[in-house]
Amino acid sequence: MTGQLSVVGLGPGAADMQTPQASEALAAATDLVGYVTYLDRVPQRPGQARHGSDNRVELERARLALDLATRGRRVAVVSSGDAGVFAMASAVFEAIEAGPAAWRSLDVQVIPGVSAMFAVAARLGAPLGADFCAISLSDNLKPWPLVLHRLVAAASAGFVVALYNAASRARPWQLGAALDALRPVLPPATPVVFATAVSRPDEAIDIASLADADPARADMRTLVLIGSAQTRVIERPGARPYLYAPRSVAEPAR
Ligand code: SAH
Repeated sequence: MTGQLSVVGLGPGAADMQTPQASEALAAATDLVGYVTYLDRVPQRPGQARHGSDNRVELERARLALDLATRGRRVAVVSSGDAGVFAMASAVFEAIEAGPAAWRSLDVQVIPGVSAMFAVAARLGAPLGADFCAISLSDNLKPWPLVLHRLVAAASAGFVVALYNAASRARPWQLGAALDALRPVLPPATPVVFATAVSRPDEAIDIASLADADPARADMRTLVLIGSAQTRVIERPGARPYLYAPRSVAEPAR
């Protein structure tokens, strides 16, 4: 029997935001590997082994998955959202690049998922409809000055920014510092969206402006979407405004 490894994005949380292809890969697996919180989202199947770990040991987890696949198992490595966006797919390929030659011959499939930024954008309207980028605010894997440099460069160039890993108990001050760095380069009225646990029962979405955005609003399940000078806000009586990016831009980026 030849082993197989799928890297599966589970989507943002709701069962109906997981693709049928992801569900099939999970059902076909003999072994599931992933952060326990994400494994808990996958229904238990008799005979299927689960290898849960905490959030910080991605490379070790990737090596375990590759090793199991080499031994003939059908392994699914799970991530939330899309597995290729700040998630396990990179760890798997990093492990393959540095690992034994046999790992390069394995059948590896990456199954795409609905990334948090797409789930958030869909709730709001179409804020990612023109040029945008995604930045992880975590300085666990890259130096903080680089995070800030990229953020300020992207915002200055007119990109809407989807900020992942905006805050956590271990990283309490970074989002405040990031918003402070953006204030000189974006208009005070630029919309800043705090979107927490989107598609889950405790979903919460708040729209502020850069001038009054409170970084304490974010936790580890929050995506912060920072608009651009072009982002349009359509107010509605008694309902959350729509946000969208016009498809054409007349002015050069400020
Ligand atoms: N691979 C994932 C991202 C993992 S990084 C994806 O593609 O979505 C983890 C970060 O993703 C969190 O800190 C948060 O910023 C964001 N996130 C994940 N699920 C979310 C959800 N349901 N609602 C809002 N943000 C979410």
